Amino acid sequence: MISQRVRTIEPSATLTLNAKLQEMKAAGRDILNLSVGEPDYPTPEFIREAAKFAMDNGWTRYTAAAGHIEARQAICRHVERTRDVKVEPSQVVISSGAKQSLSQTLLSLVDPADEVLLPAPYWVSYPELIRLAEGVPITVETSARENHRLTPEMLGAQLTPRTAGIILNEPGNPTGTVSSAADIAAIVEFAQENDLWLISDEIYEGLLHDGPMHSPFSLDPDRVALISGLSKSFAMTGWRIGWTVCQPELAGAIGRLQSQNSSNACTVSQACVAPALDQYDHPDLKEMYSTFRDRRDLMVEGLSQISGVHFSNPGGAFYIFVDVSERLGAGGVADDADDLALRLLEEHQIAVVPGPAFGAPGCVRLSFARPESELRQAIEGIQAFLG
Ligand code: PMP
Ligand code: GLU
Repeated sequence: MISQRVRTIEPSATLTLNAKLQEMKAAGRDILNLSVGEPDYPTPEFIREAAKFAMDNGWTRYTAAAGHIEARQAICRHVERTRDVKVEPSQVVISSGAKQSLSQTLLSLVDPADEVLLPAPYWVSYPELIRLAEGVPITVETSARENHRLTPEMLGAQLTPRTAGIILNEPGNPTGTVSSAADIAAIVEFAQENDLWLISDEIYEGLLHDGPMHSPFSLDPDRVALISGLSKSFAMTGWRIGWTVCQPELAGAIGRLQSQNSSNACTVSQACVAPALDQYDHPDLKEMYSTFRDRRDLMVEGLSQISGVHFSNPGGAFYIFVDVSERLGAGGVADDADDLALRLLEEHQIAVVPGPAFGAPGCVRLSFARPESELRQAIEGIQAFLG
């Protein structure tokens, strides 16, 4: 009964685990939840006020399917300010979250059997979204020991006549990777030489701990589809606003698809795009970003004291991806990463996401989007378990 297309799609591992933990919490269990993939902060007040004003002032109807013109203009201003590229509203499609932006961008670019290069560890939804577009995800392994560096040689080793494009995600989920300007330039050059498109998911763009990121969109805006949104950088996961910025023909295709698929993203949420992006340096946001940097430092220090685990220092986002493979198997603390995550939950009430869903079997993802006191307790528990 269920179509071939959907029959094999895995549910999102992160969302499934999060739902399960919320149920456990509702049933009275006290969990240190290091699995969450969203800021623990409420949406800043200045954005909530903008939404209230919008509701009372007519932002209650359909907008253009690709997004309200004022919201798209604000995204153009933001892209020019942060990526140094001038774009027009006709190059912007606003969707109901970056996940929908990614899905529709892939559906618009991928033909059946096209191969898409996907650096691993990758965010859980990429392989499924590529498959949904009838493409084939081809993973390109990176390692914590090399700070998850991705080079043209690594990409070249997986290149075939069917390769159509590459997915990049910086700052990265689950590794927090932020590449150097030279490494991004080399990847863009590789894409140009082999005539590949690039999808650059920059949803964590505001959460940078050690310095600026380098967007491939700045180097070749005709080849790169830039994906971002309000979810992470503005603590607005529930508002469902994401966008694709790309060359006009592709934006037109994505807009056509969205006009049949779902129409415009929530109008009240769209009303917050300009207030949020135009005040991206608001003190409330700066405070949130600096707290995330402090938490990153706390986690790195705590985990550095455990022997036999490896991770690269995350330059952005709010995750640390820890390679625990040396501690697994015979003589180790658990059989595999799933077993380790289960035992951490049952014995220490600490929730983490096992690595297999990110294409990295011997690893676990820890989120530090939790208050410092909880992170300290969690580190103690993890040190006791792995110590
Ligand atoms: N890309 C990455 C790398 C993510 O971690 C997430 C988190 N859900 C998304 C895209 C999707 O974001 P949104 O909530 O805006 O759909
Ligand atoms: N992106 C977040 C995470 O990785 C939220 C969950 C999801 O959308 O998969 O945990």
